[in-house]
Amino acid sequence: MERVLVIEDDVQIQNFMIYALENSGFEVEGALNGKDGLSSFIMKGADLILLDLGLPDIDGMDILRRIREKSEVPIIIVSARDQDKEKAMALDDGADDYLTKPFSATELMARIRVALRHYKRMTTHTSTEEDDSVYEYGDLKIDNRAHMVWKKGEDIHLTPLEYQLLLLFIKNPGKVLTYRTILKTIWGEGYGEDTQVLRSVMASTRRKIEENPAKPQYIETEIGVGYRLKEL
Ligand code: CA
Repeated sequence: MERVLVIEDDVQIQNFMIYALENSGFEVEGALNGKDGLSSFIMKGADLILLDLGLPDIDGMDILRRIREKSEVPIIIVSARDQDKEKAMALDDGADDYLTKPFSATELMARIRVALRHYKRMTTHTSTEEDDSVYEYGDLKIDNRAHMVWKKGEDIHLTPLEYQLLLLFIKNPGKVLTYRTILKTIWGEGYGEDTQVLRSVMASTRRKIEENPAKPQYIETEIGVGYRLKEL
């Protein structure tokens, strides 16, 4: 049974999460402050952590960093609606995803599923492996050996940057990727703040892969944070 640690000082929200998780077959432990959350993680461990950023004793960002010093356990941030900057910062500091309050049990379980799947894939694959995979996603087919992309069977020409951008998302379905993460992965260090170059490559990629680039069905915008490839 997988074990989830819920660090959240709002009793109602915590109870809601515990109820939803237990209904889905998880073992759950709740902590109402940062200190209890950290000690529970150190003593008993967890397969996933749900972490509220606004806690009464320790700043959630500090808890995130302290756990990340020791562990790669998936961490999903639970955050208020108007904290885009904080969400992006938490993701850049190693959080796997975030949920914006209020959220449904369905959303909660979907995010948990994605985070656990990523973690398992990360721990079973080494980064040095050659990736000759063929990916199928919606109307798209991406052959990473041939570096070719087809949409509804027609091959579409992507520039090297557009291709790398698409591939990064195809490999991370359901996961939010921050501007900084994308820029660092594709453009390298030093482009960390240049979201304009990313927006422009994203726009041209969408024109090629989306039916209606103004209403993207595949790569969705997470306002103020980054983008997410929709799970199909
Ligand atoms: Ca709180």
